[in-house]
Amino acid sequence: MRVLKFGGTSVTGADRLEQVARIVAAAHREDEILVVVSAQAGVTDRLLWAAEEASAGRLSVEALRGELGVRHLGALEALRLDRRLHDAAYRRAADELHRRLIELTEDLREQASRKLGKPEVLARILAAGERLSAPLVAAALAGAGIEARAVDAAKVLRTRGPILDAEPDVEASRQPLRELLAGLPPGTVPVFTGFLGADAAGRTTLLGRGGSDTSATVLAAAAGAERVEIFTDVEGVMSADPRRHPNAVLLPQLSYEEAYALAATGAKVLHHKAVEPARAAGIPILVRSSFAPERPGTVIGKLVTEEAERRVA
Ligand code: ASP
Ligand code: MG
Repeated sequence: MRVLKFGGTSVTGADRLEQVARIVAAAHREDEILVVVSAQAGVTDRLLWAAEEASAGRLSVEALRGELGVRHLGALEALRLDRRLHDAAYRRAADELHRRLIELTEDLREQASRKLGKPEVLARILAAGERLSAPLVAAALAGAGIEARAVDAAKVLRTRGPILDAEPDVEASRQPLRELLAGLPPGTVPVFTGFLGADAAGRTTLLGRGGSDTSATVLAAAAGAERVEIFTDVEGVMSADPRRHPNAVLLPQLSYEEAYALAATGAKVLHHKAVEPARAAGIPILVRSSFAPERPGTVIGKLVTEEAERRVA
């Protein structure tokens, strides 16, 4: 099994979604695939803003719901699904988007009604970005002829600790993930919401900003996947910021320790908390571009695999 994770810019707009579908379709011909997605670009920031405005009594909840509705339902319409072939997938996505927008509206109203916000309400508000993104990606996959289902990671990804900055628990996630995957029709590609999980009480929790990378490595470790591929908008990990250092080069390989050190110092390419679950399970992480998937990317791992050697040759 391979886990493919797509970041915000890779899932924003119908063209990008169709590109994701092409990438997943090619991988699906070779391997069992589990997809993890971020919220569309800018949506988590917008939700954070909305939560703050709601607390201050300044938010028009209806206007925000309209804005996010246009954005996500508009992308679904723009997918150009063949309604005869993909009617069920279209309806499933549209129903889920409507349901998620209603839940968000309720949570924002609750946020507005309290002086002191509750962390579990804020967690659900921020998690709405991924919960709106996953059904769209599943619909785009259907358009490419792949049977796919959006999956709320709160069903399987167990966490401990603070609701808004929770620690993933790989061991506790194994059994629920196995059961969920076994319950899907054969050949179905699950599209998991990144960034979120649930605690033992079933409350939605967050893995911290940028946490979808961590979702990918945690689900990979819990599923025993062979590799994680992080699709982003740059070609891989660079030796320096290419905007400021024109001589920056793509780093073909990194050890887990090097990747952690780079990520912890703020290299935007991978969340530092994503490294440990992969390291502990010995799963290589390939960082690559969804805009240029033919490029080799950066392999993070213990050993240089034959494939990595081929890719960098
Ligand atoms: N959407 C979340 C964020 O913006 C998580 C992620 O994209 O990884 O932080
Ligand atoms: Mg990120």
